[in-house]
Amino acid sequence: MMRAQPTASHFVDGRYLEDDAGREILCVYPATGETVARLHAATPAVIEAALASAARAQVAWAALPAAERGRVLRRAADLIRARNRELSELETLDTGKPFQETLVADASSGADSLEFFGGVIAGQGGESALLGGDFAYTLREPLGVCVGIGAWNYPTQIACWKAAPALACGNAMVFKPSETTPLCALKVAEILVEAGAPPGLFNVVQGFGEVGSSLIADPRVAKVSLTGSVPTGAKVYGAAAAGLKHATLELGGKSPLIVFDDASLEDAVGGAMLGNFYSSGQICSNGTRVFVQDALHDRFLERLAERTAAIRLGDPMDEATQMGPLVSAAQHAKVMDFIAAGRAEGARLVHGGKVPALQGLEAGCYVEPTIFADVTDEMTIAREEIFGPVLSLLRFHEEEEAISRANATPYGLAAGVFTADLARGHRVAHALQAGIVWINQYNLTPVEIPFGGVKASGLGRENALAALENYSQRKTVYVGLNPVDAPY
Ligand code: NAD
Repeated sequence: MMRAQPTASHFVDGRYLEDDAGREILCVYPATGETVARLHAATPAVIEAALASAARAQVAWAALPAAERGRVLRRAADLIRARNRELSELETLDTGKPFQETLVADASSGADSLEFFGGVIAGQGGESALLGGDFAYTLREPLGVCVGIGAWNYPTQIACWKAAPALACGNAMVFKPSETTPLCALKVAEILVEAGAPPGLFNVVQGFGEVGSSLIADPRVAKVSLTGSVPTGAKVYGAAAAGLKHATLELGGKSPLIVFDDASLEDAVGGAMLGNFYSSGQICSNGTRVFVQDALHDRFLERLAERTAAIRLGDPMDEATQMGPLVSAAQHAKVMDFIAAGRAEGARLVHGGKVPALQGLEAGCYVEPTIFADVTDEMTIAREEIFGPVLSLLRFHEEEEAISRANATPYGLAAGVFTADLARGHRVAHALQAGIVWINQYNLTPVEIPFGGVKASGLGRENALAALENYSQRKTVYVGLNPVDAPY
């Protein structure tokens, strides 16, 4: 059934590479339960080949003018756009996300990132200081070989969001996709080579957590960028610290979305649905705690339930389908457990909560879009990241109360506020503990703006010029023009 199947498990030194001594990785299409690819985790030999070729390629790549490096990335962006349909199909097979979404949100977002960093890198200058005759300037140097480790929800986007700023700055990268979605990053590697990237500059090796940790531990590696859960983030940060390496961590969240009673009802409901049901709710920045002010609460719930009931679940390859399955049987079981906990702890199930009956897709990992009302701050579904289409509605009276309840979480990835009052929108945005706050919008993350978390949700930023800071280091060059004034 796969039409764009990569030909081997890994992509190393400019070509596909297999070593079937590695532990088997099954890639399962979660809409049907069919195995669409069998791959193998990287063996020590594959890891060595990837790191050695990355270290080799990095030196010559960093010596190129930035404009030339940028041109390669922009060519890759063009190739990705030209093949958007084929890549979107692969993304759907890898993740189960509906084709309707992958056509606009995945390969195209990866292309945006390659285009942006390919464009801005030649303009990255340094600083200079005049020191009374003497002067100094700074150079922005690459870190060297970087490791990227991906989550399973956006396999193409995550690979590109890490590769584009890393390569633009003159680094090489070894990328390990999530074992759940191994396919898409291989295509990114293939396309980068076609665009002119030297062999070894961007390698993809498959594997479970232990492949990630052996990459981080290697002395040739200068930095790791992880997208994953908080517990994995703590392990990866610890491993990076042991080698005094740089780390960027894009982790989980339990983000609040605060709707004031003066908000546009349709926009607020639309924002809450986008922030809970897009990609079957498997988005780190989702606004899963929807706080609605008293006076609007009941109307909001009624309209939310009405619009949610109209969501079309089904075959992800059908372009009319708006919601597909969850990524895996394991994730499905986890989400169903959270729904059971919501019921057991007294939340009111208003919509969904079941496995839908979809003809021909009985083996798929589907769950209905689910709305719980009367949720309180202490309930499990209001505290823990679910990573599924489960929206919790909470009621509030006053601005200050909403802010303090919204901030009462170890996470701090994202937040949203819907209000017609401009001053209040900004005031609340400033008070919320989050790496990004949307006012009258939700979950938009174009490459032009920095993205990342505070508190337990992570460290460092992806996208925008901010990402360049995370993939380069300054060297200061002091130039003496005055006689040396030694006191001896
Ligand atoms: P996960 O933490 O289970 O795995 C993430 C990656 O880390 C995988 O590739 C995994 O193989 C690897 N890994 C696991 N243990 C490791 C170790 N000890 N050393 C090195 N690598 C290791 O996360 P997941 O289930 O794949 O993804 C879901 C999580 O990712 C959610 O918590 C979600 O919020 C988060 N996420 C965050 C963002 C963001 O940008 N902030 C985006 C997407 C997903």
